Amino acid sequence: MVKEMIEEKEIHLKVLGCSDAFCSGGRRHTSFLLKQQNYNTLIDCGATTPLALKANKMNSNDIDCIVLSHFHGDHYGGLPFLLLEAAKVLNRKKTLTLISPPGLKQRLVVLLGALYPGSDDVLSTLPLQFISFEEGVEMQQEKFNLRVFKVQHTTESQPHGVRLDIGGKVLSFSGDTAWHENLIKIAEGADLFICECNFFEHQSEHHLNYEVLKKKENLLKAKKIMITHLGEEMLKRIEEVHFPALEEDQEILV
Ligand SMILES: [Zn+2]
Repeated sequence: MVKEMIEEKEIHLKVLGCSDAFCSGGRRHTSFLLKQQNYNTLIDCGATTPLALKANKMNSNDIDCIVLSHFHGDHYGGLPFLLLEAAKVLNRKKTLTLISPPGLKQRLVVLLGALYPGSDDVLSTLPLQFISFEEGVEMQQEKFNLRVFKVQHTTESQPHGVRLDIGGKVLSFSGDTAWHENLIKIAEGADLFICECNFFEHQSEHHLNYEVLKKKENLLKAKKIMITHLGEEMLKRIEEVHFPALEEDQEILV
């Protein structure tokens, strides 16, 4: 019933997971479910995402599209499990669109071979559409337009921030990153900008901390900023933080 009341021009997000790599605070890895009429998109799909879907009475058959910010296990490690179930249990027939930095298919061949030897047929059995994104190129998808920007994180993981234009509303996500000028473009005019904030004051080449984000806040021209990917240090000091933080299983309507 609720679904029919949602207008296409609203962003309806369900937070399936918002932890850092180590499930700090007992939370699940990154995955945001973008709900549109008859179309569900996951933004990132960390290793705990199959659990998150089941906890929300869903499974991979309910997902039409997955957008991946980068190749770290807490952001895409759930895929081998989802795909295995889709192929062997759910007998999936509906196309699943996978949008990511270049090279996802080759990575999945390796992952499936390592985690489930003998499951070589999973990728060929499933109706998968692999789409590689490229920085600066606006991609028109069925239900949204997508632009991505490089960010400052482990280079080998091909890190990006993403911007989804959903019928004129903009949802953007930093991915994993330390401060990078592209965050200004990613956040610009967004109705909701979800920004990683792994640490409170600890400095890292690969992640933001609250002290830095607070200093840069005036450059981020989003209508609403929420933070995610909180580590133990951040969780301990969350009362001192003025940005609202994502909560697991939270529903967000913007
Ligand atoms: Zn990462």
